[in-house]
Amino acid sequence: MAKLTFLGAAGCVTGSKYLVEAAGKRLLVDCGLFQGTNELKDRNWKPLPVDPKQIDFAVLTHAHLDHTGWLPVLVKDGYRGPIFANPATIELTEILLKDSAHLQEEETEHAKFKKYSRHAEPRSLYTPEDVDPVLKQLKTMPRSGGFDISPQFHVVSFDAGHILGSSSLELTITEGGKKIVVVFSGDIGRYGQVILKDPTTPTSNADVLICESTYGDREHEEGDPAELLAQIVNRVVKRGGSIVIPAFAIGRTQTFMYYLHQLEDQQRILHLPVYVDSPMALSATDLYIKHKEDHDLEFVREEGSDGKGDPLNVHEFHLTRSPEESKAINNVKTPCIIISASGMVSGGRVLHHMVQRLPDARNAVILAGFQAEGTRGRALQEGAKTLNLFGQAVPVCAEIVEMGQFSAHAGKSELLRWLTALPAPPKQTYLTHGEPEAAQALQAAIQERFKWKAAVARYLDTVPLDG
Ligand SMILES: [Zn+2]
Repeated sequence: MAKLTFLGAAGCVTGSKYLVEAAGKRLLVDCGLFQGTNELKDRNWKPLPVDPKQIDFAVLTHAHLDHTGWLPVLVKDGYRGPIFANPATIELTEILLKDSAHLQEEETEHAKFKKYSRHAEPRSLYTPEDVDPVLKQLKTMPRSGGFDISPQFHVVSFDAGHILGSSSLELTITEGGKKIVVVFSGDIGRYGQVILKDPTTPTSNADVLICESTYGDREHEEGDPAELLAQIVNRVVKRGGSIVIPAFAIGRTQTFMYYLHQLEDQQRILHLPVYVDSPMALSATDLYIKHKEDHDLEFVREEGSDGKGDPLNVHEFHLTRSPEESKAINNVKTPCIIISASGMVSGGRVLHHMVQRLPDARNAVILAGFQAEGTRGRALQEGAKTLNLFGQAVPVCAEIVEMGQFSAHAGKSELLRWLTALPAPPKQTYLTHGEPEAAQALQAAIQERFKWKAAVARYLDTVPLDG
């Protein structure tokens, strides 16, 4: 009996992990970190209901930490099998996991020093040393088309248009001469965005569909992103403030860079220094040049040019790697833009920038990504007057701007557009990767529009895949 267990991203947007058991083998699809409320984060410390030694294979839809960030624990707990992913996902996973381990270490040190942790003895979930064995287990699979994980499991990848390398996976299980098709949407991106390609919908008839529902109850704000960004930048510069954008160094950061570059060239904004502050900070340009198949950018690189041919870097662009360089940004009193992780202000160096910049009404914080329940990002979005940072209540005086136009996730109608392109109704649909209201809203929309059977996935539930 083929079956699937929801080990995460059920009733919440993080911790994506799906265990497929069929034909005597176990396959783990994604291995994400839980983020957000303490209740969710505590799950990261609990062992899986299945011994990782008993899992045979793993495969990744994309590199975001809520899909990969628990891999170091899985491997520490005994998983020795291959972790399949396409080249861009492997490269990004390496960067993200190292960054995550570094940040956890920096935070643990800080918590020990300042004694504000809710744990008696603060420690990190994993260290940079725990990341190395994971990297050795990452195995390349093709960016598109079919790939045999094993005689039982065959996957076909489709570009999900969410970040570099992001995929929807169509899994065909062969069990006792029978074939079962399970489609994993992964995270679905946007249609008609700059940089990344449009999402593509898998083409086979699915027996079971596992579909994300992050924005299942919402549309993104309308409006020209360039114009809105120009207005914010000019408003903040005029009053002598700075802008903090919580985001990881790769992905949304390049969308901002792309628009800022364009606005600078068109002289619609001043040339501002932009700091990308991360222990793993790197110029993402090379990554985008290497993975051309995922986007529609053109790079014109000339020797000695001032970066004009590089659409992803603004004219004054700084990468900061060490904690000292990061702290030095505090001394920048002239208007600047600081991009720093984490995107939901749940941890990372952006916390220090928040302490520094939030109390000043001249500054602005741009929230562009999904802000999960229980995160500081959500609190800011909901108008919090103070924010708890390093054990102190920091007043929120800075302007908080939400820019859904920069979201990497499909809005409700884009999710429905992706679903409309499926060749036939799945026999069963499970909605995951959404908070309860979002998942339920998408469930209702699917039942109303398509008349399909759709259920909201429940954490740790096991469901049959073969009817
Ligand atoms: Zn994602």
